Amino acid sequence: MRIRAWQLDGDVASDAFDMLPVLARQCGLNLAVTIESVPPLPEHVLPELWVQTDSGRYDASYFLQFVDLHLASVDAEAHWIMLTNKPLTSGDLNFVFAATADNGRAVLASISDLGRSPDERRRRLPLLLAHEFGHAVGLPKPGRLVYDNRHGAGHHCHAHGCLMHSLNSVAELDSLYQSVLARNLLLCPLCERECTQASGE
Ligand SMILES: [Zn+2]
Ligand SMILES: [Zn+2]
Repeated sequence: MRIRAWQLDGDVASDAFDMLPVLARQCGLNLAVTIESVPPLPEHVLPELWVQTDSGRYDASYFLQFVDLHLASVDAEAHWIMLTNKPLTSGDLNFVFAATADNGRAVLASISDLGRSPDERRRRLPLLLAHEFGHAVGLPKPGRLVYDNRHGAGHHCHAHGCLMHSLNSVAELDSLYQSVLARNLLLCPLCERECTQASGE
């Protein structure tokens, strides 16, 4: 499995992607991450994909729906993770940290709401990216639909301390960070089983 990471608005530290191999190890996924130095899309495409809502945030669903079509023509096999510093929203939510295309092919994540200090962002971003990539590989399975009006109707895990629990605030990201440090594991046993099955398919 290949991830192509693309930093839309300039440099983000490459350790932003450090939790992806940890997740891959727990699931038995064979994962290679490359960070794109050259934008893979023609320059005129990007500005068209950013649609601002009344709140001044940018519509992540719109972006993903259309960027996905373009990226599929660049590399249909890879998963794409795109980082931005623009504030995001989706549907009728006030904000989202990140969103994943329905087909799992593209993830858009923002550092905008992850805190003011570089240290805070540095601590939170890798977990956020691992969470979204978990969605990209189909976690949790559709049978475990949880409606959460802050995070949207999505598939999330009920287990606290699991990477795939819904993440609605920086406080939840920080508590996840603490539990990952304590257990040195990202996924609860149920999510781990689903992820391991997915990697074998
Ligand atoms: Zn989620
Ligand atoms: Zn779980």
